[in-house]
Amino acid sequence: MDLGISGKRALVCAASKGLGQGCAEALAAAGVDLVLNARGVAALAAAAAGIRAAHGVTVTEVAADITTGEGRARVLAAAGEVDILVTNAGGPPPGMWTDWERADFIAALDANMLTPIALMKALLPGMMARGWGRVVNITSQSVKAPIPVLGLSNAARAGLTGYVAGTARQVAPHGVTINNLLPGIHATDRADALDRTVAEAEGITLDEARARRAATIPARRYGTAAEFGAACAFLCSQQAGFIVGQNILLDGGAVNATL
Ligand code: NAP
Repeated sequence: MDLGISGKRALVCAASKGLGQGCAEALAAAGVDLVLNARGVAALAAAAAGIRAAHGVTVTEVAADITTGEGRARVLAAAGEVDILVTNAGGPPPGMWTDWERADFIAALDANMLTPIALMKALLPGMMARGWGRVVNITSQSVKAPIPVLGLSNAARAGLTGYVAGTARQVAPHGVTINNLLPGIHATDRADALDRTVAEAEGITLDEARARRAATIPARRYGTAAEFGAACAFLCSQQAGFIVGQNILLDGGAVNATL
């Protein structure tokens, strides 16, 4: 399917690996020029080079911590006017509700709520003025069904979801859509880190931890970054212009709910 976005320009945050990289790849395959961000220079350069070679689009790299004001300022300066924004950052650490103090919540809110909000605040006016824009926020299935050990993530992402629900309706008259993609478990470094925590806590191997988790998913496997990216690119397409303020689960059926 031609997504109708060839020649558009996208900022994809936290995109040298995992789900962000999957989104960047799928947008590049649709002919979108990219501004790619992550903190680590080497992985970012490798991801950018791979995308340029595979898809022939322009890729600008900005190594920066997107959760800091200074990092965001550099990313936004390099990005300039973009038509598409994909927000993403690392997820908060797991733990128990008794572990977390105010500073832990502030860090999680900064990374997974206030950073995407700041990026939208900076880039939505330009999209609205030009009469076209797409924003996709990478959140989590924890928005629909809490993951108890990820209480910091549950809290921060719920806040972002509430913000998007209202804001998406305010910008929609200007041809701009905002939607959230909610990953269930996908085979990335983040999933490895979570599975390693389980393996260590329960005295089992990493493979056993993965197999146990996969067995709880109706699809009986982890999702891939490529599948996730394809869904993101569709939400950024011309065809998705009537999808506004939605929270779309990509979880192999893991959240057991009718709606
Ligand atoms: P990942 O494989 O660990 O990749 C994270 C990417 O983000 C890397 O490119 C990393 O590069 C970059 N990054 C991390 N912190 C950053 C920061 N502060 N500023 C800029 N770039 C940053 O993670 P993932 O699995 O793709 O997860 C992406 C998001 O989805 C996370 O918020 C995660 O919690 C959420 N999620 C993932 C899953 C899953 O199963 N994978 C499920 C639910 C939710 P650098 O480290 O070099 O910066």
